[in-house]
Amino acid sequence: MKSFETLYALDRWGGELLGVNAAGDVTLSAPVGGAPTSLPKVIDALSERGIAAPLLLRVHHFLDAALLNLHSAFQSAFDEVGYTGNYRGVFPIKVNQQAEVISHLMQTGQPLHYGLEAGSKPELLIALSQPRSPESLLICNGSKDESYIRLATLSRKLGQNTVIVIESLAEFDIIHKVSTELGVRPLLGVRVKLTERVTGKWQESSGDRSTFGLGAHEMVTLINRLKDAGYLDCLVLQHSHLGSQVPNIIDIRRAAAEACRFYVELTALGAPLTHLDLGGGLGVDYTGERSAEENSVNYSVEEYCTNVVEAIRYAMDEAELRHPTIVTESGRYVAAHSSIFVFNVLGATLYDSPNRPEENREDSHLVSDLMAVESYIDGPRFQEALNDALYYRDELRALFRRGQIGLDELARAEQGFLYLASKFKSAARGQQISGDVQAGLSAFVDHYYGNFSLFQSLPDVWAIDQLHPIVPLQRLNEEPQRQAIFSDITCDSDGKIDRFILADGAADALPVHDLKDDEPYHVGVFFVGAYQETLGDLHNLFGDANVVTISLDGKGGFNIEHETEADSIAEVMAYVEYDPRDCLDAFRKTVERALAAGQITPSERRIMISAYKEALAGHTYFD
Ligand SMILES: *Cc1c(COP(=O)(O)O)cnc(C)c1O
Repeated sequence: MKSFETLYALDRWGGELLGVNAAGDVTLSAPVGGAPTSLPKVIDALSERGIAAPLLLRVHHFLDAALLNLHSAFQSAFDEVGYTGNYRGVFPIKVNQQAEVISHLMQTGQPLHYGLEAGSKPELLIALSQPRSPESLLICNGSKDESYIRLATLSRKLGQNTVIVIESLAEFDIIHKVSTELGVRPLLGVRVKLTERVTGKWQESSGDRSTFGLGAHEMVTLINRLKDAGYLDCLVLQHSHLGSQVPNIIDIRRAAAEACRFYVELTALGAPLTHLDLGGGLGVDYTGERSAEENSVNYSVEEYCTNVVEAIRYAMDEAELRHPTIVTESGRYVAAHSSIFVFNVLGATLYDSPNRPEENREDSHLVSDLMAVESYIDGPRFQEALNDALYYRDELRALFRRGQIGLDELARAEQGFLYLASKFKSAARGQQISGDVQAGLSAFVDHYYGNFSLFQSLPDVWAIDQLHPIVPLQRLNEEPQRQAIFSDITCDSDGKIDRFILADGAADALPVHDLKDDEPYHVGVFFVGAYQETLGDLHNLFGDANVVTISLDGKGGFNIEHETEADSIAEVMAYVEYDPRDCLDAFRKTVERALAAGQITPSERRIMISAYKEALAGHTYFD
């Protein structure tokens, strides 16, 4: 059976996690040896239970797979390179703060001594509430006030390996004061500002102009202060962070080498360092292209580990230092693959029509010129025909604006153009198409309306042009006949997805199937587990979608592990400080006045009040 998964490059970016079965369904791969689970079947089964799209689907097995891959890649690199230190990973909570995600990671990570990274006080409180292996680390980054530092310091009394990473000279003064008061020796780290800059979206986090960390001069000052205060023996960890999604392995290697230079020098100054923390930056290959582009990376997790471990081993051997415990705060890599956002298509505006308009003798000759284009669409004059059609249509629109033709005639012209569009589309099918022609054809791209809010569910697509793999979840054994972009249901023209990953690179439209009246059409946006869930906002008051966590049973089925129902309208109204009961009361009074004035009947009043109440309790998305 023919499969169209390669069209969407699913075979490339889907890796070992996703596939397509003979029925044309996208499938979720089970752990080794198990049968895959059809994703549309999961969506149908959830929908029967009343949990409908839009929904965010988390797959436990995908989260586990990334975490275990990362650890085994470090272990293999250690073996290969002869590294004698350990690896201790920590999960940066900001990447996905959801309780269910963090607690699952802590459970799977227990035997690996997987720890947590907090970048704020709320995140510290979360970290302190999680059961962790006693050998795991709790890394405290970010700006810290006295109460943040007090809590972190106190947790040392519980035997926790809480490391307070000093990000500025002023922070040490607070640490000094608090630990003296409490009589607790803290574990300290220091964030160094590397001079190497990296490419990619987050390059501002790197280099000497970055906001975070201490430069060489401040570092020397800090060491002296630590020495004078009698705290130098507490400095056990050196931290640096290049920014997220570093696309080029060479940057990672250079940064690791520079971090080692600081480590060696700080050790020479008397700091008893044992941990080298390289922060985040391990990227996700969203496009599957394996290139040093914004939405891709030119390395695998194995290469990342080998490069980092080699660079560190080399530097430490040269300086005759013990191999430090390597720490990374890889969040995106661990979390991104585990979530899939699924929305249903509500309808479409198609930019073509099978109906040729009736000719009218009175019409401008431009209308018949336009229609004459049909005769040379097929064949070598395709591009000329395309240019002509666009030209005549624009001229006719100009005539309308100048009052030279009426609405009726414009309507025939637009209809004629849509008729030609259908001819262009069928002629273009299966042809090699040049960039210019492609740009012309983009005038005919269809609009599919998705039941979602880009601002709530895919904020990075809106804010930083993040590309996620997007694929229809069903009918992949059927050739898609249309090219579409997706509009969401907010009233904002920014609320659209118009860049996609296809086999030949990024494209402005996604191949999709004709919609059927009696069948839902679901679209999946993949690898949305990192950063998307709490950055989203309530634009137009569209709230959180349903969230469901599943595990795969290895027999083609699944189990629901956790479920969070979408926000109700009453809930989102309360977020912006309306009291839904007051609103209902106010509405009731308006309706009662209309009844008193004889504008409505008592039974109309009943219908209105119950419609309002029902809507309050319902969801913000289309049912
Ligand atoms: C955001 C952040 C991370 C996570 O980076 P990823 O690229 O997602 O792994 C790690 N450490 C610090 C200090 C961060 O600010």
